[in-house]
Amino acid sequence: MIPVAAAEARICQALQPTPTEWVAIDQAFGRVLASDLGAGRDHPAAAISAMDGYAVRTGDLAAGGPLRVVQTAVAGQPVGAPLEAGTCARIFTGALIPPGADAILIQENARRDGDLVSTESPPSPGQFVRPAGLDFTAGAVLLRAGSVLDARKLGLAAAMGHGHVPVHRQPRVGIAGTGDELVRPGSAMAAHQIANSNALTIAGCVRAFGGMPVDLGIVRDDRDALGALLDAATGLDLLVTSGGASVGDHDLVAEVLGTRGFALDFWKIAMRPGKPLLFGQLRDVPVLGLPGNPVSTAVCCLVFLRPALARLQGQAPTPLPTTRLPLAAPLGTNDQRQDFVRARLLGGADGTVRVEPAPRQDSSMLATLALADALIVRPPHDPPRAADDHVDVVQLVRITGF
Ligand code: AMP
Ligand code: MG
Repeated sequence: MIPVAAAEARICQALQPTPTEWVAIDQAFGRVLASDLGAGRDHPAAAISAMDGYAVRTGDLAAGGPLRVVQTAVAGQPVGAPLEAGTCARIFTGALIPPGADAILIQENARRDGDLVSTESPPSPGQFVRPAGLDFTAGAVLLRAGSVLDARKLGLAAAMGHGHVPVHRQPRVGIAGTGDELVRPGSAMAAHQIANSNALTIAGCVRAFGGMPVDLGIVRDDRDALGALLDAATGLDLLVTSGGASVGDHDLVAEVLGTRGFALDFWKIAMRPGKPLLFGQLRDVPVLGLPGNPVSTAVCCLVFLRPALARLQGQAPTPLPTTRLPLAAPLGTNDQRQDFVRARLLGGADGTVRVEPAPRQDSSMLATLALADALIVRPPHDPPRAADDHVDVVQLVRITGF
């Protein structure tokens, strides 16, 4: 059994970032930049008005005016003629400021009389003017390779002048469920059958972490069927299997991989749930063999698939966001495995939050996982913990999509 951190490091080390592709910016949401992105222009490109009012030469307004209104500047129009002494321009937000004007007299402070404007509150130089390059200047490298193009960054990339962006190709992750008991979700189920729920959990994680799931369906616990699956698994950046990774008579994944020239990296990790995890390389396809129990599958996705997909998209994997919270109930001694304990968060009347472990932690119990707020993370050999002792907690709401 190798430690969880070592398993994660070995998986990430074995994976290479996917190649770069250029995609239209309106298709790039959630994708990861493959190279730095510089600004193609100043933003704004020239001085613009921040308000509706009058573009003025402040020197002319020292005595309050009046100034003659000689032109109108509206957003979307090219710049107007230079302002001559004693004149001003009617202007609206976003419009280019005519040469010579150096401030905006906002319309709330202006008194208009025919084509003359005066004021009791002249603006100071530069007031309500957004100078060229206020936001950013041409050539500034604002977005770095490895950044996720979220809503804010996509808006910035568009303002920088980009119509297409270089991103890592979405990692293609093959997903196969193994087991004679599995049927497609939604099928009628006899007592000896269960839905291939892991396929949904894994595909959801793949999407949440930026990849593209490739559904390889259900494979029977049969050497030939498994062999055929492995032989057909091409064009993938990662193959994820679930089930059959343990040491029972029907756990054939490792055995059949062995007949296909699989280079095993590790099998079995010091983690609960998730002990029988296996990882290695089949031809040019890395293979992550997840244990079949649904909670083991899900927690292994969180702990290993999340950094694996980061790595495949050229990012440095980030640790799971962890906080320290007091326990609402005691925990016994932990054994040699790192433990991920399903838990709820309890808010007290005084505003404090405590974390309550679910009383049963069987790794088949999907409901306690799906309804959990958090996982308590316990290091190997953690001593018993009393109520109100502080423990490390991964708050699941902070992991979008999980
Ligand atoms: P295994 O790792 O194949 O021994 O499976 C362990 C447990 O997980 C068994 O109870 C299986 O029925 C269950 N299981 C295996 N694969 C899946 C799957 N794809 N979806 C839901 N449960 C599964
Ligand atoms: Mg099985």
